[in-house]
Amino acid sequence: MERGPLARDITQLNRYTMKTITLAVAAACLGLAAIGGQAAKVTDQVSNNPLLEEWDTPFGVPPFDRIESEHYLPALRVGMEEQSAEIEAIVANPEDATFENTIEALERSGGTLAKISVVFTEVDGANGDDITRETASTLAPEQAAHYDDIVLNAALFDRVNAVYERRDDLDLSAEQRRLLDETYKQFVRAGANLSDDAQARLREINAELASLSQTFQENLLAETNDFELLVTDENDLGDLPASLVALAADEAKRRGHECECWAFTLHRPSINPFLQYSPNREMRKSLFIGYAKRGDNDNDADNKTTLARTVQLRAERSALMGYKSHAHFVQSDAMAENPDNVYKLLDQIWQPALRVSKQERADREEMMRADGIDDQLRGWDWRYYTEKVRKAKYDFDEESLLPYFEVNAVRDGVFALSTKLFGLQFERRTDIPTWHPDQQVFEVFEADGSHLGIVYMDFFARESKQGGAWMNEIRTQSRLDGEVTPIVTNNFNFPAPSGDSPSLISMTNAETLFHEFGHALHGMFSDVTYASLAGTNTPRDFVEFPSQVMENWMKEPEVLRLFASHYETGEPIPQEIIDKIKASAKFDQGFKTVEFIAAAYLDMAYHVLDSTEAVEPRGFENSAMTDIGLIDEIIPRYRSGYFAHIFSGGYSASYYGYIWAEVIDADAFQAFKETSLFDAETAARYRTEILSKGGTRSGADMYRSFRGRDPQIEPLLDRRGLN
Ligand SMILES: [Zn+2]
Repeated sequence: MERGPLARDITQLNRYTMKTITLAVAAACLGLAAIGGQAAKVTDQVSNNPLLEEWDTPFGVPPFDRIESEHYLPALRVGMEEQSAEIEAIVANPEDATFENTIEALERSGGTLAKISVVFTEVDGANGDDITRETASTLAPEQAAHYDDIVLNAALFDRVNAVYERRDDLDLSAEQRRLLDETYKQFVRAGANLSDDAQARLREINAELASLSQTFQENLLAETNDFELLVTDENDLGDLPASLVALAADEAKRRGHECECWAFTLHRPSINPFLQYSPNREMRKSLFIGYAKRGDNDNDADNKTTLARTVQLRAERSALMGYKSHAHFVQSDAMAENPDNVYKLLDQIWQPALRVSKQERADREEMMRADGIDDQLRGWDWRYYTEKVRKAKYDFDEESLLPYFEVNAVRDGVFALSTKLFGLQFERRTDIPTWHPDQQVFEVFEADGSHLGIVYMDFFARESKQGGAWMNEIRTQSRLDGEVTPIVTNNFNFPAPSGDSPSLISMTNAETLFHEFGHALHGMFSDVTYASLAGTNTPRDFVEFPSQVMENWMKEPEVLRLFASHYETGEPIPQEIIDKIKASAKFDQGFKTVEFIAAAYLDMAYHVLDSTEAVEPRGFENSAMTDIGLIDEIIPRYRSGYFAHIFSGGYSASYYGYIWAEVIDADAFQAFKETSLFDAETAARYRTEILSKGGTRSGADMYRSFRGRDPQIEPLLDRRGLN
């Protein structure tokens, strides 16, 4: 399930990649180039910088009470210098390369940089200011260069390669072997194996791709901001909920309209409710088309040339690296392994989903006829008549759920679930420094009372926080040089309490809380030697599995009864509401699945190309969608011109990963349903074989150890009502 604009809900890159790349990812997501702000007053503060001192705090957490935004840049630069010196020492070692003096030494290098950059990434996202933003954009190129200097250091790669060539004679443990393989792979995937000429071309390609990605993002922002739909007749708002009407009125004022009117934009929280509730068909059409044509208007902000060039360069780069296509290159490092496996999965879900979406179309068409409209159902009609069908079938008002989902009650719900499954205990700590007074910090204990880790929870939206929800590890578990226990964070954008009213969150937000806590458990249960293989450092199409699986529990009546009580009366959630939640779970899933999978196919179509000839995106997309038999009333969740996940985010040839992880989570949850929801033995096996293993084994191997077989697709089809 996607969380936030670019779904950045987890940092999951390899450790010394992470040091350099998460900053760039965070910077890209924040659209830093577009943020002005005064130039940061960055002092050259190296002495008296708490980031560079020993952290004399409970559990060695960062001393947030003493860290100022100015401290990050100089400290991170010290961290880079330190690592460069450490790398130089590895290369200068007169002894032959060994696992210890090269692979482990590399793993140890950059300790200071790693320690500080994860804290910086978290704080910049969760409580950033002009200085942290400026720091992030200043650092992005410096860190990219620093990373290149490591992975393209020929003498260093020679040593890594020397160890790798003797890998079968070294008597390594399974985890050591994995570290060696992953380290070697990281160098090779960055181009270390290439000739000087090829490396030079690779650097050119990477630089051009980075700037194309930036252009794509800027064009998309311009196209999105350029559009507005101004409503002046209240009747055109239909049954739009009062809170959204108020938001639209604010938006109109913000845009300088002095009338009694309401402005709607192409941002999803604005467009979807309008399409759902407005009876004005012409207005729905204008908004829908405005959204769907972004980046494809043949104007200055058109994205077609940009994305065609991106696709072309990616094909050239993958050929340079010895792969058949960009998708082959990307997926060789994923659980899916190759495009054949991805297509196999997508095809199995596509046919049933398409069939169900055609039934849904018939229902909505009938509703439209009843409304007196004698025309073909269109894309801009779908959500409007879906809402009418939903009302007629389920009469289910999501607002009526809110009083049962007070944020601290939901938090206690996920804690209670963790106690039932794993025996964990939680204790609130108020002696631990935080980066914002809203934060809650908990010490987590094992069933036997021993310390497991620390979790920071930061629930509420505020100006200084980026959108969406995410988890971070601000200290990764390891035991290379003594036991290091994990420190993790969960971040959300829930409505803050105001006055006497507490923070009441929607069911979707409650799911998000369970989701992020699944990532937190993955980080905290890590039980490995090497930090770069710990916790959530697993492939992207696997890492969402431990989080998504938690969403299953949340909607089960037994779990709802653990925590969902009325915040004023204490009355437990009524059975009638539980029944409605259950009954509506499969509603509109044909549409939702089809729009998602269509986008996944589109991503694949661009990235399995093995020719470097430029495509013409409009025709290319049309024919890709005709090939799969997409119906006219549904468009892909993202069309080419605004598919930021794949053209300016990190999800190229990876968009399928969301549904891949969902197949696994549905099948894994089935293991509990086959025994009992809180079955201790299944939970222990899940912890041992999956949650504790980090990236020390392949996703497929871990899953087989847990389930005794490969994941099956039926539980997902069942859950979505597609069979
Ligand atoms: Zn997630």
